[in-house]
Amino acid sequence: MSVNGKTTDRPEERDDSFASRRRLLKGAALAAVPYALLPGPQAGALAQAPDYPLAEWQPAHRSNYTPAKGTGTRRRPDLVIIHVTQATYTSTLGIFQNSRKDVSAHYVVRSGDGHVAQCVRESDIAWHAGNWDYNTRSVGIEHEGWVDQPAYFTDTLYEASARLTAGICKRYGIPRDREHIIGHHQVPGTDHTDPGPLWDWTRYIRLVGSV
Ligand SMILES: [Zn+2]
Repeated sequence: MSVNGKTTDRPEERDDSFASRRRLLKGAALAAVPYALLPGPQAGALAQAPDYPLAEWQPAHRSNYTPAKGTGTRRRPDLVIIHVTQATYTSTLGIFQNSRKDVSAHYVVRSGDGHVAQCVRESDIAWHAGNWDYNTRSVGIEHEGWVDQPAYFTDTLYEASARLTAGICKRYGIPRDREHIIGHHQVPGTDHTDPGPLWDWTRYIRLVGSV
C-alpha cells in the first residue's frame, strides 16, 4: 500500500486491495451484503474493519506496531492509556503511517469534531506507552492537541473519546476508573507529561461512566 508514497513487498497490502477496502468501508450498501457472498480479497479487507464501529480505519504502517498474529493468544488489555498528540490530527496519522517513526496508537480523536481514527487493531500491540509491558496491556488513545493549549480539549473531544473508552472497557471488562484509565505520564519510566494538568480527569471519568 502506498501509505506514504512507498510500496511494500507485502502482497496483501497492494494498492488495489486498499482501494477495495476503502470503497467497502465507505459503501452504505455494504450492510445489506452477506459476507459469504463477497469474493476473497474483499472478505479479507473486511477483517481490517475498525473494532470501534464509529472509527475510520486509518492503518499505521506495519513496522510501527507488533501484530498479535502468531502469538497464539488473544490479547486482553486491562488498561486504557490517554495521550495528547502534540501535533495535528493529520500530522499524527502521517507519523503513524511513516515506516521510520516506530510509533503508533490504536486510536486518534480529532479535536474539532470528535472524529475517531483507528490505526492499529485492538488485538495488536501499538507502540505508544514507551514501556513494553504497558504496551502489551493497554489500548492507547491519542487526542489531537497540545498539553498547554486547553482550547483543543473540546466538549466534543471529551464526549467522543469517552464513548470510545467506554466501548473498550465493555469489550474487555476493564473497570471505568482512574486505576485502569490512566495518562501516559503515569506509565513507569516515561518522560512524557501528556495528557497534562489541563486534561479534566474528573469530567472524563464521569463521561466514560455515563455512556
Ligand atoms: Zn503520550
